[in-house]
Amino acid sequence: MANYENLVNDFMADIIAKNPGEVEFHQAVLEVAETLIPYIEENPQYKEAKILERIAEPERVILFRIPWVDDKGEVQINKGYRIEMNSAIGPYKGGLRFHPTVNLGILKFLAFEQVLKNSLTTLPMGGGKGGSNFDPKGKTDNEVMRFCQSFMTELFRHIGPNTDIPAGDIGVGGREIGFLFGQYKRLKNEFTGVLTGKGREWGGSRIRPEATGYGATYFAEEMLKTRGDSLKGKVVTISGSGNVAQFATQKVTDLGGKVVTLSDSSGYIYDPDGIDAEKLAFAMHLKNVKRGRISEYAEKYGCEYHDGQRPWGVKCDVAMPCATQNEINVDEAKMLIDNGCFVVSEGANMPSTADAIVAYIDAKILYGPGKAANAGGVAVSGLEMSQNSLRLSWTREEVDARLLQIMKDIHEICVKFGTDGDFINYVQGANIGGFVKVADAMLAQGIV
Ligand code: GLU
Repeated sequence: MANYENLVNDFMADIIAKNPGEVEFHQAVLEVAETLIPYIEENPQYKEAKILERIAEPERVILFRIPWVDDKGEVQINKGYRIEMNSAIGPYKGGLRFHPTVNLGILKFLAFEQVLKNSLTTLPMGGGKGGSNFDPKGKTDNEVMRFCQSFMTELFRHIGPNTDIPAGDIGVGGREIGFLFGQYKRLKNEFTGVLTGKGREWGGSRIRPEATGYGATYFAEEMLKTRGDSLKGKVVTISGSGNVAQFATQKVTDLGGKVVTLSDSSGYIYDPDGIDAEKLAFAMHLKNVKRGRISEYAEKYGCEYHDGQRPWGVKCDVAMPCATQNEINVDEAKMLIDNGCFVVSEGANMPSTADAIVAYIDAKILYGPGKAANAGGVAVSGLEMSQNSLRLSWTREEVDARLLQIMKDIHEICVKFGTDGDFINYVQGANIGGFVKVADAMLAQGIV
């Protein structure tokens, strides 16, 4: 083991030297390197071809200026990015994030995760990610439209339905995808599946809005099955209140679980009676249409609201972090475990810190890392691409059935590569399972 530790340290020293200051990127690469380096030592063909070193370097990074004019007539300038990380098994695929915290290191961590995640979906998609430090909060629809049009005026020359297919992420939902698609179509004079997450009437797939939340819930159910258990009757804490949290709440409730928390960047609500369909409809209107704060839910239903806090101190059986990266630290992870939580299924990307993950593994709980548990979103994006190519649109039932099967397949891959005695290490399973397909494709394609 000590031997591997030295190899990991040497590898990481090189990554840190080449990518200074990109702490989230270092964190994501380290988590993968720790499980992959022992595997690569046993499979020297990957070592000789330096596959790990190559997948940690983006194939291409595009940085650009986004000038736009706000409603007051003032000129605004934001930064735009697209990381084209890996195209060994398909065109670059991954979302766009619009959030003031966006920087190169955050997008590189997300693009790196996306490569392995997309490989796990079993669909032919490479990995990419992009976005801007633009903050949609408090902006009018017209401002968001002008920003999206300016963003696409540069991005359009780098993407295409066979090259790079962006989608949504934090701050980019149906409204933004619509504005981006409209501008792409105008510039290229082409109606193609260049973006996913489109509206149903103009090339979008059924179940795409639901897919990440549903998928993370299906993954939790699959993990529970390995212990002869299910979500029925379980108390579930969920963070976030965006698209992923909303549809995770819906699916957990459908499967007989009780969701007791939701949150936003201001605080969390605790509803011990459970967030049923009617209350969820209120929360969805609040967040998607009114674009208000989750505290209004507590006012409406007379339940607790905890300002400035995260929901991980609430007693639960299952936790589903569906907000953002590093939203569960080691103290919160231990609090969850001490309170009896034995399943963590990640709807967000890298929501648990490195120490939190160690705590889950030490406690041998069922821990589904984001790159496996939240892959349902991009999987249905892949199905949207297939429907666009076929110029067909599948029914809700058909897409949902395919999503469920894909989540079962991802779980199976994790079991295959992650089983260690009577424990399934899903981190190891997802990292190795995602890596092998990409690595073999890279070997076959030579040093490119
Ligand atoms: N942003 C989502 C993710 O993290 C979806 C990406 C996509 O649909 O391309 O996987």
